[in-house]
Amino acid sequence: MKLLEERIRKDGVIGAGNVLKVDCFLNHLIDVPFADELAREFYRLFRDCGVNKILTIEASGIGIACLTARFFDCPAVFAKKSKTSNMSGEFYSVPVDSFTHGNTSTVIVNKAYLSPSDKVLIIDDFLALGNALNGLIDIVEQSGAQLVGAGIVIEKAFQGGGDAIRAKGIRVESLAMIESMSPEEGIRYRGE
Ligand code: 5GP
Repeated sequence: MKLLEERIRKDGVIGAGNVLKVDCFLNHLIDVPFADELAREFYRLFRDCGVNKILTIEASGIGIACLTARFFDCPAVFAKKSKTSNMSGEFYSVPVDSFTHGNTSTVIVNKAYLSPSDKVLIIDDFLALGNALNGLIDIVEQSGAQLVGAGIVIEKAFQGGGDAIRAKGIRVESLAMIESMSPEEGIRYRGE
């Protein structure tokens, strides 16, 4: 998506350890009209798939997941990274390694919120090694729901997670696919 590629080039900051910071429009301050255009594009891509639930993982996926859910006129469910004492019921759960935090957390979704009658679109802000997305796919499989595919805002394609998941036959649509990035050379997108 040209608009996003240009925005990343203009405002993204390439940090240490293959981390791209897009705090000023997506991950800290959210440019809502801009993020809404990203959500509209997810809708255009998946509008014919019968989606009735959006699934993401806390925290940074929640904003874009909610905007996307408005286009589909359906609820957004976010997987939680910790179980608090006021939560009751039964949960689907899966361990997920965090790329940005360097730890592993058990990610959970209440069984009441995903069921075999659901058609699920997974939405997330970033795809790197694929741990978060694989965890969400696992949760959809546990629930017996149908997975329609995944919509990702920024895929760091050079880290391989996205292509490995596509190779399993899962539809993954990324609005920007970074083939390489460095502070010296800047960003190169797939197909450039
Ligand atoms: P993965 O599990 O695919 O390795 O990483 C995806 C998750 O880690 C995303 O949910 C995102 O929150 C975070 N993440 C991975 N790489 C980056 C990055 O370069 N920048 C930011 N802001 N988050 C990232």
